Amino acid sequence: MYDVIILGSGPAGLTAGIYSVRAGYKTLIVAGTKWGGQLMLTTLVENFPGFVEGIQGPELMMNMRKQVERLGVEFLNTDFEQADFSSRPFKIKAEGKIHETKSVIVATGADSLWLNIPGEMQLRGKGVSTCAVCDAFFFRDKNTVVVGGGDSAMEEALVLAKVAKTVTIVHRRDGFRASEAMQKRVFSEPKIKVLWNKAVTKYMGSDHVTGVGLKDLKTGKEEEFATDGVFIAIGHKPNTDKLKGIELDAKGYIVKKEIKEKGLMKYRSATSVPGVFVGGDVHDYRYKQAITASAFGCMAALDVDKWMEENEKSS
Ligand code: NAP
Repeated sequence: MYDVIILGSGPAGLTAGIYSVRAGYKTLIVAGTKWGGQLMLTTLVENFPGFVEGIQGPELMMNMRKQVERLGVEFLNTDFEQADFSSRPFKIKAEGKIHETKSVIVATGADSLWLNIPGEMQLRGKGVSTCAVCDAFFFRDKNTVVVGGGDSAMEEALVLAKVAKTVTIVHRRDGFRASEAMQKRVFSEPKIKVLWNKAVTKYMGSDHVTGVGLKDLKTGKEEEFATDGVFIAIGHKPNTDKLKGIELDAKGYIVKKEIKEKGLMKYRSATSVPGVFVGGDVHDYRYKQAITASAFGCMAALDVDKWMEENEKSS
């Protein structure tokens, strides 16, 4: 029986592990076969504090993992098959075996959606990105493309417009689905232009992006468009498919509950299931940064500690 099982091994899960084990809890991280989360797909990370020259994403995650292992957290390097929250102890099934736990922190993250077109895998981190906050800095005075028409695409374009020479939003329809307020900001930014009814069909460049192939979805006409960077902002998929008995919102993200007692905040990272807490991008539409995921993981572990004190320590 574990005190805490943490599902996920990105910054949220690993930070939760640090706090959980240091609070004295027998802790297991179900890391997944592709452990480490979104930073494993990143190159240079310059916005995580503490690294003067920046650090490669995978190296940062490896350091975090070694730190967590040194502190005594157990790891399972497989994907879990199902997390059953219908009764306590909670049951996490992995490799056909059931692991029981008094509490759970869900930190399974959300994967960026990609276009899945030729060249994308090879050019990730070489001009193809899903995070302007992380990477805009590398595109100072460069020409950039943003793909998508939702709030994320608007936000990416606005972030890029602060540093890039040009920002071209490529959208597959003739209208954005983004909020009016975000659209207004985009349309009033002179650096941002929009190409409507177009799809990105391919990337050009071998060591770094030099352009994209565009297809006009009304006429079928194809052209090449030179650019130094491409930011894909077509949404995320939260990793919640294998969670049973927990409230999700319409887009599949975990619904985070703030629970107050006598007017004071008690838990900030609770879920619909007492004893199951959440941290990181699996509930976070908004920030999606390594540092915010880490902070959410920390909060979840502190909430678990409080919950265990009241509900499990005496048992
Ligand atoms: P989204 O609202 O689902 O928008 C995704 C966009 O990508 C849509 O415009 C969609 O086109 C396009 N798209 C999807 N698949 C595509 C493909 N294969 N090829 C080309 N284009 C594709 O996702 P999001 O912008 O990430 O936002 C997710 C949620 O977070 C929303 O509720 C949003 O309001 C919220 N959010 C809020 C803020 C904020 O308040 N500041 C910031 C970011 C996100 P179609 O329109 O044609 O479907």
